[in-house]
Amino acid sequence: MPEKNRRNIPVASERRHGLSLLRDPALNKGTAFTEKERDALGLRGLLPSVVSNQEQQAARILENLQGLPNDLEKFVALNALHDRNEALFFRVICDNIDEMQPLIYTPTVGLACQRYGHIYQRPRGMFISANDRGRIAKVLENWPYRAGIIVVTDGERILGLGDLGANGMGIPVGKLSLYVACAGVHPNSCLPVMLDVGTNNMELLDDPFYIGVRERRLRGSAYDELVEEFISAAQEVFPGVVIQFEDFANHNAFRLLKQYRDRVPTFNDDIQGTAAVALAGIFSALRITGGKLTDQRILFLGAGEAAAGIADLVVSAMVSQGLKEDDARRHCWLVDSRGLVVKGRTDLVEHKLPYAHEHAPVGDFLTAIKALRPTAIIGVAAVGGTFTQEVLEEMARLNERPIIFALSNPTSKSECTAEEAYRYTGGRALFACGSPFDPVKLNGQTFVPRQGNNSYIFPGVGLGAIVSGAHRITDEMFMSAAHSLAHDVTETDLKQGSLYPALPRIREVSGNIAVAVARVVYQQNLGSGDVPGDIAAHVQTQMYDPHYKSYL
Ligand code: NAD
Repeated sequence: MPEKNRRNIPVASERRHGLSLLRDPALNKGTAFTEKERDALGLRGLLPSVVSNQEQQAARILENLQGLPNDLEKFVALNALHDRNEALFFRVICDNIDEMQPLIYTPTVGLACQRYGHIYQRPRGMFISANDRGRIAKVLENWPYRAGIIVVTDGERILGLGDLGANGMGIPVGKLSLYVACAGVHPNSCLPVMLDVGTNNMELLDDPFYIGVRERRLRGSAYDELVEEFISAAQEVFPGVVIQFEDFANHNAFRLLKQYRDRVPTFNDDIQGTAAVALAGIFSALRITGGKLTDQRILFLGAGEAAAGIADLVVSAMVSQGLKEDDARRHCWLVDSRGLVVKGRTDLVEHKLPYAHEHAPVGDFLTAIKALRPTAIIGVAAVGGTFTQEVLEEMARLNERPIIFALSNPTSKSECTAEEAYRYTGGRALFACGSPFDPVKLNGQTFVPRQGNNSYIFPGVGLGAIVSGAHRITDEMFMSAAHSLAHDVTETDLKQGSLYPALPRIREVSGNIAVAVARVVYQQNLGSGDVPGDIAAHVQTQMYDPHYKSYL
């Protein structure tokens, strides 16, 4: 491996000065270079006279953002900041996470991906195409840092927007920004990768500004061989790198996870990250009801990556609490577009089969609720308005405190609004959502619904895996992440109906998750190197801090 791949954290005085220092986003501090630094680093005259601090620079950025007409313009402006001053970008994100997360990630990133070729300014991350077969390791060596975590997509199922081909690169880039902002993974450790295998999106193929390979999607063994070479090359060039699969279509997501999870440190956030955040929401809800996980009956609307992931992790958690696996599975039921998933059906793909229980066919969700009497319903079908008044009233009739999670994104796809969930259950719903909803006032009480956003989970899991040098990422790690997240929900949060902590606490929350995950890594003998005496202190020392440091 070339020397440059081993060096992770640049030091300004080592090699950069003058204009090249100002043009290196990893080192640039702009007008915040001090008088002494300006003299020592050849910057005198290259900057205006004023010496600002990072707070003043951040205030200027916020003022500029407020003046922009829409979220896409703000996304572009934030990207430009990322490209010229990384520390300032992350300082702005970290200090204003509630406002910034929707701009650098969902929902704005969806629009940005649709327009990616049109708003494109500078490359970020690596693009690997089918033409790179046979030389992927060489291509990865062009990356100047040693990657600790890769987020990779092939762009086939970007959020709920379908096949966006190479435009899907916005997703790995956004996710890795959240790794840095939410958990303090060092920016140089983060490598976004687009496996550009073409697209079947005709609009993009016809778009003169499309940035990807202008061919139909690679399929079959050629696709599998490309993924295999990529995974092997990534491990060869960056030994031990954590690889997060992101926004692959169902037909690849499940089998790639199955194929690689026992070979390399890898996970799929759409399946496993979603699972942990939902399980944490259930744990929080049970803190309110005092109920036991093993007493829950959970009915999912939707039977894709999110539903299967959540159900599988719920089963693992129930097994860890003493149930047999077969019994635990019977606590989870799925409804897909053709009705209740039951044993007699002949149209079921593999990931639904463990939940195809003996039952008469049921065509619709409300009838399924009446038949199965669930304690919790979880909406992950991306079909808006499906938790109707009747559905919510029936859940309130069956349960003192019904658990209602409307997780589909974006807001137009949400199964119900927060207001509907509280109103039709007489304020008794224990509610979590995938899309943001404002607080709801009902009968003199204010409910503060919080988003079960995956960003509560994956940054901490990634950090925990990196600091412990995890060889594998297991269900037990996601389970302990879910426990840690639920544990960080305060009594005040619970009183106002919030099943997740406030987002501004995300670095503390992610740090705790990283510690919980690292503990499991060591317990399962899956770590590298010595076990630190104080895991929490070790995690803290590894966390990137975007405040400027002196270069002298
Ligand atoms: P997916 O495409 O893998 O699954 C969607 C499933 O819904 C499929 O099984 C499909 O058969 C089923 N479906 C479609 N129409 C239906 C209908 N009318 N009735 C019942 N089922 C129907 O997608 P996914 O990754 O599982 O994501 C689903 C939704 O969940 C998306 O909106 C996504 O944004 C959201 N999501 C939210 C979170 C979160 O809040 N943390 C995390 C992941 C996914």
